[in-house]
Amino acid sequence: MHQLKAYSAASETAPLVRTTIARRDLTAHDVQIEILFCGICHSDLHSVRNEWGATVYPIVPGHEIVGRVTEVGAEVTKYKAGDLAAVGCMVDSDGTCAQCKAGFEQFCPNMVLTFGSSDQHLDGVTYGGYSEGIVVDERFVLRVPANLDLPGAAPLLCAGITTFSPLRRSGVTKGKKVGVVGLGGLGHMGVKFARAFGAHVVAFTTSPNKKEDALRLGADEVVISRNAEEMQQHTGSFDFVLDTVSADHDINSYLNLLSVDGNLTLVGAPPKPLGVSAFSLIMGNRSLSGSSIGGIHETQEMLDFCGEHNITADVEIIPIQKVNEAYERLLRSDVKYRFSIDMASLKSE
Ligand code: NAP
Ligand code: ZN
Repeated sequence: MHQLKAYSAASETAPLVRTTIARRDLTAHDVQIEILFCGICHSDLHSVRNEWGATVYPIVPGHEIVGRVTEVGAEVTKYKAGDLAAVGCMVDSDGTCAQCKAGFEQFCPNMVLTFGSSDQHLDGVTYGGYSEGIVVDERFVLRVPANLDLPGAAPLLCAGITTFSPLRRSGVTKGKKVGVVGLGGLGHMGVKFARAFGAHVVAFTTSPNKKEDALRLGADEVVISRNAEEMQQHTGSFDFVLDTVSADHDINSYLNLLSVDGNLTLVGAPPKPLGVSAFSLIMGNRSLSGSSIGGIHETQEMLDFCGEHNITADVEIIPIQKVNEAYERLLRSDVKYRFSIDMASLKSE
């Protein structure tokens, strides 16, 4: 066991503060990573504030991790000291169930989340990326293409895969009209991927000041979603809509934008249930689905795709000491478009 610096919250009303955590010594299949950058996902905030009602304290959040390998276990074959490496939302699964075999580790009944899951190696819960380093089984370590900017690559590990996976699965391609709702960390990646897949992309935002950016990020059109007239112009016209909104909102106004057989996939996870009108679905054989991150193989595919197309998140780099302020700004949709924590700031503390 070794001790590392980290930031943790002690309760749902407490701020994140500097602490010390234990990481396990390397087993034969483990990779030890010095964390260089960690993105701030809205799921970190939902969890720290116990908005989903399942948080175990103390919590060390962070599941958008990029760093450098410092040491590997005796039987590790894929990584060596000095390699760039990344870790996303999961750090383990049983590897034997039907979901694992199909490449859907995120649905394995024994999946271990990067933070907040019970830790079978140490007595306690797993601790995430707001820390100096992490020890992870090599099966859950990803390769980062060398050409990618590291602060902007970190958010690919959650915001990237969570949008890439449903867009890919639903066959988004040239000739399809695709909507992306909410231009935050996930949404701005959704716009970039939908554009890269060749679709006609419409971004829906409540923030008029994001309009120019949305076009630059790859949207063909931008709709200010609080303007009913602008919304109405798109009624019944979308093949696919990706909803990334983190808070309560009227989902029917987006379901009504779907064409016959159109699908709306939810990736945003607002704490309160959304009210779905049956008629929004019945009229047009429309469907509503959900999507959870992506499997490990697919996450590597996404990273490689980003390497080939030079896609990263647009980030504001912050020192860890600004994390509480960053959470307040995230709640005000005041970040363009992801905070990426420079972990060097933790070393000097
Ligand atoms: P984020 O950066 O805060 O973005 C959310 C965006 O939603 C905001 O930028 C804002 O966009 C819009 N929004 C916020 N409040 C709104 C409201 N009251 N009404 C309408 N729109 C509103 O968050 P994120 O990190 O992208 O995460 C988004 C959600 O996805 C969170 O709930 C998170 O927990 C969830 N998530 C799910 C998965 C999964 O596997 N399914 C993975 C990661 C995250 P505009 O300013 O453009 O309106
Ligand atoms: Zn996330």
